[in-house]
Amino acid sequence: MAEDRISSIASALIVGGGIGGTAAAISLARRGIKVELIDLYPDWRVYGAGITITGVTLRAYRHLDMWQDIANHGAITNGSSVFLFSGQHLRELDEPAVDGEEPATGGIMRPVLHELRQQRVRALDIAVRLGLTVTSLNNRDNGVDVVFSDGSEGRYDLVIGSDSVHSGVRDLAFPHMSEPERTGQGCWRISIEKPPMLEKGEMYFGHKYTVGITRCGEDAVYLWLLTPHERRDKHFDEEELYTRMKANLEGFGNSAGWIRDNMTRDHWINYRPLAAKLQPGPWSNGRIVLLGDAVHATTPHLASGAGMAVESAIVLAEELAKADNAEAGLKAYEDRRFERCRDIVESSIAIGAAQLAGGAPDQIGGMIGGALHRLAAPF
Ligand SMILES: Cc1cc2nc3c(=O)[nH]c(=O)nc-3n(C[C@H](O)[C@H](O)[C@H](O)COP(=O)(O)OP(=O)(O)OC[C@H]3O[C@@H](n4cnc5c(N)ncnc54)[C@H](O)[C@@H]3O)c2cc1C
Repeated sequence: MAEDRISSIASALIVGGGIGGTAAAISLARRGIKVELIDLYPDWRVYGAGITITGVTLRAYRHLDMWQDIANHGAITNGSSVFLFSGQHLRELDEPAVDGEEPATGGIMRPVLHELRQQRVRALDIAVRLGLTVTSLNNRDNGVDVVFSDGSEGRYDLVIGSDSVHSGVRDLAFPHMSEPERTGQGCWRISIEKPPMLEKGEMYFGHKYTVGITRCGEDAVYLWLLTPHERRDKHFDEEELYTRMKANLEGFGNSAGWIRDNMTRDHWINYRPLAAKLQPGPWSNGRIVLLGDAVHATTPHLASGAGMAVESAIVLAEELAKADNAEAGLKAYEDRRFERCRDIVESSIAIGAAQLAGGAPDQIGGMIGGALHRLAAPF
């Protein structure tokens, strides 16, 4: 798809090659910008979880011509079923049609999505340097002087911080912002083969823990389970992850029960405390701008963090292309994104709080459905 060129800048450095950073790299390179991308991790890999791709996220990936990639290498399913924790089917989740399409949702394994994004980045000849971060950013004469952690230096018309929740770019250039805050819940995840009875997404309510299962391919799913966060001095070790996950699933039926009964110590299992924060504006400082979890970190309750990061990347490129100068483009980007990201972050935190308070299935389901309907509006 031909896209308007950006004339106000010629070069951009993207710090953080995750979901938002790769989307920004693709969006800017397609509009004629010379893009360089760096990532802290030398092997530029992601861990083995699955990720839920909502209809809204699919729409964003359609803008990057990656919808078919996800369909081919992940799973696109229509809608999600809601069960009582014991396995009784309650109803279908009220998910909206996005842009008049069927309500589609799906999932993919994170390493598979990462590989697909890397292929797109390479196909656009974007320079990638790994094992690297920035140690100094200095706005000067309509550009940014950058010092990298290996001592090298560079100068760019724009620097994008897409380096996630603990953003180093945010620490360097946005003193009015702070670290995302813990919400009091933690997320357990396991990647495993598809239970034979599962066809599409499933959610389990009515238990003190909330569970969801997302199909990520022909024979792959991941299950997430939300619990109150337990303060500890050390991370769970592998044996604890296995035994605690199995115990947390006690009493669950249907596919969730199948996963409990068939999980082994070889399956990928992970625990993460949840944190969120919508950072106050301004989201740009001179020619340095933030996107993704660095500036709108959310919890997974609406499975929308990735979609928001991709949308922000697309909007940033669109607004830079429309504006007469970079500063106006960066302001327009923030104006267009702030309220939508506020809704997601605040709604996600509210759903988590309702779960911690023991909210009824209908209340929680209604909160999720309501937010997903608002999100289906054009971005
Ligand atoms: C438990 C959990 C489950 C989730 N489930 C879902 C889901 O199902 N669906 C969904 O849409 N969202 C989900 N999310 C949210 C989603 O993962 C994030 O919103 C999304 O990854 C944000 O993209 P990002 O580009 O900002 O960050 P990331 O994708 O995390 O990428 C950040 C990149 O920056 C790099 N980096 C970090 N620090 C530096 C540095 N100092 N210098 C250079 N590079 C650096 C990292 O190596 C990484 O490559 C979930 C989040 C959590 C915590």
